[in-house]
Amino acid sequence: MAVKRRPLVAGNWKMHGLRSRSSALVADLAKELERLGATGGPVDVVVCPPYTALCDVGRELQRTRGIDLGAQNLHWEDKGAFTGEISGPMLVEVGCRYVIVGHSERRQFFGETDESVSRRLGAALRHGLQPILCVGETWEEREGGRTEEVLTTQLRGALAGADGGPAGLSVAYEPVWAIGTGRAAQGRDAQAAAVLIRTLLAEKFGPKEAAGVRILYGGSVKPDNIGEFATQFDVDGALVGGASLDPGAFAEIVRQVMG
Ligand code: PEP
Repeated sequence: MAVKRRPLVAGNWKMHGLRSRSSALVADLAKELERLGATGGPVDVVVCPPYTALCDVGRELQRTRGIDLGAQNLHWEDKGAFTGEISGPMLVEVGCRYVIVGHSERRQFFGETDESVSRRLGAALRHGLQPILCVGETWEEREGGRTEEVLTTQLRGALAGADGGPAGLSVAYEPVWAIGTGRAAQGRDAQAAAVLIRTLLAEKFGPKEAAGVRILYGGSVKPDNIGEFATQFDVDGALVGGASLDPGAFAEIVRQVMG
């Protein structure tokens, strides 16, 4: 019997938004979702603001329904001398339920490796946070016919941190060349990547567990292209960057994912 997966749409606000703007943004998003009849629908909606806005946005979310709080990263240790880092217990304390792990900007600009990603993933799972694990190839890797190899290495590397099972795990296929460029992948590329990802998940956790893991597409998702991804069998939603800063656009993406 086919497993029914509840779709997920997550907004990555990156390093955008001072505290007051972040609160206003999520309040506007709640209104837009309501207006479109997408509040509390059969889809999980998550916003991942910068750390400084987590408390404010979390407070705002207590007044609304159907939006969860996520963070953009976490450290693998619970506490200690790790200047500039943030831990799982700290995120849980401010109400986070989700956390992005291994985003390509972390890999590209902050030296994240498959090993550090796997440790961060392990920490998220240990603290009951639902990780959104990002994998994806660069344009050069794609042109060199190495997409499959890159996704396999990244995913196997990261999953070394998930020996206890994939409870709550989502994987986002985010081709690096599609992030913030306005040049999204095609639906069939996302589906092919999702099939590979699910096969690798099955190799690690078995087919039954793998069938329950949500696989998202991310990379220049907008209201006018989300339909192409949302209709792919193995794609269960989206990780949205730029368009998540526009409440109307993000709500419209959620509405379309709801179907
Ligand atoms: C992202 O940062 O994860 C992302 C997908 O960004 P954008 O939607 O802006 O391409």
